[in-house]
Amino acid sequence: MQVVGRRQLVAGNWKMNGDKALVGKMQKIFATAGLDNMDVVICPPSPYFGLFDGKLKLGSQNISEFDSGAHTGEVSVAMLNEFKCQYSIVGHSERRADNHESNELVALKVEQVLKAGLTPILCVGEPESVREIGKLFEFIAAQLNAVLMKVGVSQFADVVLAYEPIWAIGTGKTASPAQAQEVHAFIRGHLAKQDVNIAANIIILYGGSVKGNNAQELFSQVDVDGGLIGGASLDPQEFLSICQAANQ
Ligand code: PEP
Repeated sequence: MQVVGRRQLVAGNWKMNGDKALVGKMQKIFATAGLDNMDVVICPPSPYFGLFDGKLKLGSQNISEFDSGAHTGEVSVAMLNEFKCQYSIVGHSERRADNHESNELVALKVEQVLKAGLTPILCVGEPESVREIGKLFEFIAAQLNAVLMKVGVSQFADVVLAYEPIWAIGTGKTASPAQAQEVHAFIRGHLAKQDVNIAANIIILYGGSVKGNNAQELFSQVDVDGGLIGGASLDPQEFLSICQAANQ
């Protein structure tokens, strides 16, 4: 549902998947897609950035908190800028788990992305165990507060949020539209305690097993402004149908 002032956005996170052929297929299919009411962002593995022709918006899947230097394997915001990357996913649950990224490190990365004039797609979301013991909202508030404390609420004018319940990522288990809406409303309300305008205008994506056949219902929730898509972003036709759901 397009809410005044908020444009729907769909970002595809390829993770460590895809190849040169997929870059070509994706560009071909989206060249004639006519998606005028929403934004599409592709977050491929960084070696593929240079293959995109500039028509699709690009995002990175991670970013270094440092400017440059002896940080083997890392990619800087300056490098993203050189490839016209406009977005960077920060705090994806796979990086929080596999690379031990704490809330504090995620906050440093958000600060770094903002400093370079890019838009962080800040991911928050709970494991199933936390939901089961009723600590869902505290958990998400702590993830948000670490970043709020670091950069201040006004900087959230340039942040995109993604609510990604960990139990729904890559599992085929999707949060119901009502479950997604409940958490999105909580997130917006949490920000509204500090700044009502920022809260009203911030884009909050849902991520977790979104497919062509469930996107429309999820995106029609009043506080859901599009999606962060993993597995389904590797299938150009499926990804297009998700984007079409956001375009309505
Ligand atoms: C993700 O990893 O951000 C994600 C939402 O994955 P999937 O769509 O495959 O659940």
